[in-house]
Amino acid sequence: MQPVAFPSARPVDLSVIIPIYNEEANIGSLYERLRSVLDPMALPGGYELIFVNDGSRDQSLALVQTLALRDPRVRYLDFSRNFGHQIAVTAGLDRAEGQAVCIIDADLQDPPELIPQLLQKLQEGYEVVYAKRRSRQGESAAKKLTAKLFYRVLASITHISIPVDTGDFRVISRKVVEALRRMPEQNKFIRGQISWIGYRQTYLEYDRAERAGGETGYTYRKMLKLALDGITAFSDVPLKAATVSGFIVSGIAFLVMLYTLYSRFVTKEYEPGWPSLMVSILFLGGVQLIAVGIIGEYIARLSANVRQRPLYIVSDSNLPEPPAQPQR
Ligand code: UDP
Ligand code: MG
Repeated sequence: MQPVAFPSARPVDLSVIIPIYNEEANIGSLYERLRSVLDPMALPGGYELIFVNDGSRDQSLALVQTLALRDPRVRYLDFSRNFGHQIAVTAGLDRAEGQAVCIIDADLQDPPELIPQLLQKLQEGYEVVYAKRRSRQGESAAKKLTAKLFYRVLASITHISIPVDTGDFRVISRKVVEALRRMPEQNKFIRGQISWIGYRQTYLEYDRAERAGGETGYTYRKMLKLALDGITAFSDVPLKAATVSGFIVSGIAFLVMLYTLYSRFVTKEYEPGWPSLMVSILFLGGVQLIAVGIIGEYIARLSANVRQRPLYIVSDSNLPEPPAQPQR
């Protein structure tokens, strides 16, 4: 008897990965818009839509399951809880079969209509085509400002060039997916990892629309985690900054010491309360706390990687079991 080969013969041309967190208001129209863009392209190998439900508390999963009943190209992974956007995308990447993979948000802020152009560029020989935001609508000034600041700070303290004003909306080739699967880090910053991988990369610009329905799932807390993951994974500058600021503060403290000695023994005009002492103690204490905090951020991530936990737990899926769990 012939053994059944796995994976089943489905060399799809394009996998679209869609992380889902409380997106019941958008799933229907997203599916329609994806279809109206992808169906006319008549990809010979076809496409698959991989919805990764990241612990939604609304009807998102039920909606996706209903779509999957009607359309075999709809695949889904259902997480046992909310693991976060980057992990959801990673899970999709672990299971995507496509020769090209598109990562797109579910809230229609990333226009599916751009996918053909992104794919076109990929066919011109690029391995990564990311979509860069020319403008962003419907987001708070604070969010836009913090994002802008973050991308600039990150760019200035890393050696690799992580594109500014770019989220995860992009099309990547099979090669890049394979490379990503071999990157074992627990704290994912996918757009940084993709820059790190290299190959020929290019971009297209687009105007980012307002969220179609529902509310953002990215709280400030989650954004801060993403920012810290990005910085700690791709830069050691903060660690070094701790050392540098330590030297600067010690230098200042030394000068203050000379000054107090001078006023005690030469001018004999000094405050008996030693205010300068208080100032330097507080100053040094502050710098030490900052330095310890920075070290803590790195150590927390080190220990997460030492623990080697699986990145996510799947509770339900209509995807075939992978041949082997990716090594992490
Ligand atoms: N998302 C997710 N898990 C989360 C938060 C968000 O999978 O914990 C998904 C969300 O459903 C959407 C994408 O990640 O498809 C981007 O999130 P969102 O639109 O809320 O972020 P924003 O555009 O406001 O930065
Ligand atoms: Mg959004």
